[in-house]
Amino acid sequence: MRAQGITWSFTEDSHLFIQKIKERKDGKYGANISAIYTSSKNGNKSEIEINIPFVDEVSCYNSIICWLTLLELNIPNEEINRRMQMLEIVAMRLELKKGIQQTTIINDTYNLDITSLGSSLRFMESQAGNKNQTLILSDILQHDVSGNKIYKKIAQWLNDDFNVHRIIGVGKDIIKIDSLLKGSIKRSFYKDTESLLEDLNHNLFKDEIILVKGARSFRFERVVSRLEQQAHNTVLEINLNALIHNLNTFKRLLNPETKTMVMVKASAYGAGAIQVAQLMESQSVDYLTVAYIDEGVALRLEGIKTPILVLNPEAAGFDAMVRHDLEPEIYSLTQLKKYYQFFQENKNNKNKKISIHLMLDTGMRRLGFEEKDLAALILFLQGKAIIIQSIFSHLAGSDAAEHDDFTKQQIIRYTRMYERISKALHIQPIRHILNSAGIARFPEYQFDMVRLGIGLYGVAVSSELKEKLHIISTLKASISQIKELKAGESVGYNRGGKVFKKTRIATVSIGYADGLARATGYGKYSVMVRGQRAKTIGVICMDMCMIDINHIPDARVGDEVIIYGENPTIKELSSCMNTIPYEVLTSISDRVKRVYVLE
Ligand SMILES: *Cc1c(COP(=O)(O)O)cnc(C)c1O
Repeated sequence: MRAQGITWSFTEDSHLFIQKIKERKDGKYGANISAIYTSSKNGNKSEIEINIPFVDEVSCYNSIICWLTLLELNIPNEEINRRMQMLEIVAMRLELKKGIQQTTIINDTYNLDITSLGSSLRFMESQAGNKNQTLILSDILQHDVSGNKIYKKIAQWLNDDFNVHRIIGVGKDIIKIDSLLKGSIKRSFYKDTESLLEDLNHNLFKDEIILVKGARSFRFERVVSRLEQQAHNTVLEINLNALIHNLNTFKRLLNPETKTMVMVKASAYGAGAIQVAQLMESQSVDYLTVAYIDEGVALRLEGIKTPILVLNPEAAGFDAMVRHDLEPEIYSLTQLKKYYQFFQENKNNKNKKISIHLMLDTGMRRLGFEEKDLAALILFLQGKAIIIQSIFSHLAGSDAAEHDDFTKQQIIRYTRMYERISKALHIQPIRHILNSAGIARFPEYQFDMVRLGIGLYGVAVSSELKEKLHIISTLKASISQIKELKAGESVGYNRGGKVFKKTRIATVSIGYADGLARATGYGKYSVMVRGQRAKTIGVICMDMCMIDINHIPDARVGDEVIIYGENPTIKELSSCMNTIPYEVLTSISDRVKRVYVLE
């Protein structure tokens, strides 16, 4: 069969002839697109329209392509309309940071027009969880629309379409919005950024998410830097787009109906459990997984609704686990009996169902039921009102060809054990055994669900995926001071770094307490400065290290120093530290600020 093209344009000669893109008629945030559609199959013409939750040009054009595709797939226009409302914007550059007093700051001070304000408000909503939403907004200096009209529009959005509970306006004009806002939105106004800064004491904000959005001339970056946690200049920058890309890269290896469980244990491998969980929830993953109960409780307190599996639930936390709807991994009969008894004895659990996941030990020899334990397990479960959500196991060597025979034996054992439980109890819980490397190397064993960990965080788990995964995190420090050493001088503790000629060195704001292990000292590792690699010199200190920058004459105090990211890679750092990327990622200390970037 010959391939046939389908097209859209603003002229009549295409399948989807776009007639008009304008603001929604019902006043809601978004655009209305009307068109004449000619089916490529039967040539039937119809006049149709849709509403989309965007107004910027790129998103409109992307939406039109989706619209045409769905029309050609015979999806009814009402259904398309309904689904379009659920789309989220991705095309922008803003930063999400931890602020003072448990706040979250969205820094969007690069530009301000009404379109990007809408996108940023939507983004805030998706990240807010249980937090109150505050908008810090400057005058809108946009000359193509009259001022009054703009503020009327914004007021309408804030009143009807978004959940902002407070607005702080800065400038001479924005006060116009005051009389247009509904009473429940709190507000305050400042004539300029300086007066806002004077008033910014630490009690002004607490436990909220704050969108800082100002025209460039207001220089709101000063507001952001006051609200930000200023712990330490060394940052781990996490690219949210890359996380989404990696998730989708793995999903493409799977059948569409296979469920995805995402591992957010150990602070989401150092990337920050809450932000990663929020992002994954917005991508509709089926399950999140933590190692300990506290990690799960923290997610629930931030408003995460996705089911959460706890891999190693300890009895002391059973109460919190049930209160927050966390689902335990059950790995032994003793543990199951303890949990069951707790459930029975506690009046608060009366209306709740006990819901568990069974872990089978098929060769990992860590946690789990062995084959010899199954008879007693089945006997105990029979007739009890216990819901078994899933039965799973864990592969010990899924990433290495040398263990492939062992992996296959694990799968055979898993299947046999699953069948035995499933037949005896007449149930068919979700089956899952693959971790990231397993998905890449054994997609034929994906069963009903997979458990995605390290691959999401950008570490290639097979040679094939190396090209396809994006790097999600970049560890950055900066140059604190530069020194000229004379021949014969030494650097640092134990006089570890000796120089034999005149040498320029830089002191960098990262040490072993941040996660840069001592093993990287004495020139064994090199970092990136102004596009060139620079070796460590002498020992790594607790909070700092020194590097040789003799060959980088233009290096200056304040320059960014990349510890790992695109180059050098985390693999390079982990092999220098004599370990694996998992350990490097999870040992970047808390004092290293996490900054989230969405592009
Ligand atoms: C951590 C973990 C995973 C994820 O493994 P990756 O190699 O990071 O993909 C899957 N299953 C269990 C039981 C785990 O503990």
